[in-house]
Order: sequence, then structure tokens, then C-alpha cells
Amino acid sequence: MNQKRYITADKILPVKGNPMEGKVLVFEGEVLSDIVEANMIEPGKVEAYNGILVPGFVNAHCHLELSHMKGKINTGTGLLHFLQSVISMREFPEEVILDAIVKADEEMHEGGIMAVGDICNAIHTATVKANSNISYYSFVEMFDFLDPVKTEQFYNNFYPAYESVPGLGKHRKSIVPHAPYTVSEHLHRRIYESNTSEAIWSIHMQENIEEDRLFLGQESGYRKFFSELGAPITHFQPTGTSSLASYLSFSPLPQKMLFVHNTQSRESDFKAIKASAINGYLVTCPNANLFIENQLPRYELWKESGLPICIGTDSYSSNWRLSIWSEILTILKYNSFLSFDEVLEWATINGAEALGLDSELGSFEIGKRPGCVLLKSIGGDVDTRANDVVKIV
Ligand SMILES: [Zn+2]
Repeated sequence: MNQKRYITADKILPVKGNPMEGKVLVFEGEVLSDIVEANMIEPGKVEAYNGILVPGFVNAHCHLELSHMKGKINTGTGLLHFLQSVISMREFPEEVILDAIVKADEEMHEGGIMAVGDICNAIHTATVKANSNISYYSFVEMFDFLDPVKTEQFYNNFYPAYESVPGLGKHRKSIVPHAPYTVSEHLHRRIYESNTSEAIWSIHMQENIEEDRLFLGQESGYRKFFSELGAPITHFQPTGTSSLASYLSFSPLPQKMLFVHNTQSRESDFKAIKASAINGYLVTCPNANLFIENQLPRYELWKESGLPICIGTDSYSSNWRLSIWSEILTILKYNSFLSFDEVLEWATINGAEALGLDSELGSFEIGKRPGCVLLKSIGGDVDTRANDVVKIV
């Protein structure tokens, strides 16, 4: 039987329910087995901290396999330059790649991250995931450069990655499209047929203004980008609608999908998600948006949409850290209309729901194994200048 731990601090934010003072969280192993009044426990048994306790975080979008790219890519060059840099740097010694994955997994765990939605193009993360304390949902990503003639070739290229990453117990996986500008309807159908109906989907969406231009039939940097990659998209016919609306015209659509980035999305795009049969989640990676394009999404539109919002770190090719806390700080720093409490929901329970882990993670509710993170406080509130958090459970 697991030793009980009695943990308290100046304040506890359970995410579901009101802030608590004078209470103690009882953990048996990883499981929150009870929440009791402080005076019911012998003081000597209680771990009492200065600060504020919150549940562990969920990172809804990462590319763990790109961790070796830390510090390698220039900032502020725009998405197309960024993608070119990442593609040109795919060749690294395997031990460098694997070592960076181990370190990044540890960093996320120490930073209070309990679960990660992780994009895979390769099988490098499989061993770390099998042994990690973090629950991973692996999104094995496919693309065919919008070319239905090449679909099977690309599909067969990526399928080994799908087979190799762990997909049992707390680790689940699905096959997903990369982005509207890289996935034909033919590949979309192939992906749909390969997944179970409960599969969670993810897609990179409207990260760059050139994406909508391509679909609207306007001059778009993506045409040159694909030509230079050796995969010209001369066959591609613009749809005349936004990239998001174009993707939603595919059928059949999945039950649940994470839309990642959405920096260029308009109100009409979010309405289209709402009106579709998809249970949609909006995922923001603010530090990556600043790193690549030096801009942030318009969160007031995200909020107005009523769609649940979650937070990702993206990868070490486009971030300085893999820290959900750091993403929270960026969001709050540049958006004073947002409250700490609502952004904490994005970072915890919303991400847990998005990955189908809300029965275990995302809030201090008895029976969950939510993790426990200590935040610094100042004047009774969370100190949003503090660089780091401390993982307690
Ligand atoms: Zn990404």
C-alpha cells in the first residue's frame, strides 16, 4: 500500500470548484484519495508550503522528436523560412536525437506536465514514451503534399511510425493529418479508415496568412515553398474558401479534433467548427507563435467562439522551453483581459478533456491522479513573474 502524503499550502486552486484555504490534499501514491480540513491531521504529518497549489498541467501540442533542435533555428523569420530550416536539419546522429528526447521528457515531467499530445513523424520517441511518467497521446502525422497520386506512398512511409509508438494503457495514438495545405481529401479518407471512431485527431491550422491565400486562389508563398521542396502543387485547385472551411468540406469528419495555432483564424472559421459535427478544441502555442511569426492569436475571438481552449508548447525547434507554465505567463503578459483562473483551466482540465484524460487529470477531484504543482504567491495571488514552478506530486 502507498504511503499517504498530506499536502497543503496558503491556497489550493482545484480548477473544478472554489479556491480552498485550510484544507489538506491527501495523496496515496499518485491518487488524490481525500481532501480534508487541516485541523483533522496531526501537524507533524503535513507538508505545508508557502504558495498556491494547482493540479498538474496538460501539454496539448508538442513534437518531442524535435527536441534536439533546441537553439538551432533563428527566431522571427516567418513560418515558411522556419519550415525550410526544420526540413533542412532533419539529419542528426540518432544518439543526439534520442538523448534530447530523454531530457525533454524529464523537463516536462519536472515542470508539472502530466500528459502530452505529441506529434510523430518518426519512431524516435517510442522507447521514452513506453517508460515515461507522462501520459502521451501520440498523433502520427501524415501528408501527401495535396497529391492523391502520391497518397499511398506517403501513407506507407508513415505507417511504421504509427505501429511503433506505444499505444497501450495510458499511451494512446491515432493517425492524423498534418495541415490543410499538405493533406488531400484522398489521404484524409485513408486516415479516417485507419483510425477507430474514438480516435482523437489533431491538425495544424492557419498558422500563416499564406495558407488562406493558397485556398482562396490568391498569390501564396506556399506554391514557391512546395516547388523548392521538389513537390510542386501545380495540380492543386483553390477551393475559394478559407483553409479551415476547405478542410471541413472533407468527409467523413472525425468526432473530435484539436485545431492547433489558429493565429490567422477568423470568427467565421470558428463558427464553421461550431457548426460542424466535430467536437473541436482550439490549441494555442503562444511562445512558438512569437518564436516563428512574432505574433499572437486574437484570444478575444477564441473566447467568443465558445470552443474550449487548451495550451501546447510546440517543439524545441520553435520554443525556448517545454513549459506550460511559461506559456501561461506569455498569455497573461500580453492579454490582460484574461484572468489567471481561466487560463489555468486551459492549461489543465481543458487539455485533459481534449486528450480524453479528464477522468484522471486536470483538477483536484477525489479519485483522480491529477499531479500537484506549487506556484509562488504574492499578496495572496499567483505570482506571474515567477520563472518556475515546483512539482510536488
Ligand atoms: Zn506543431
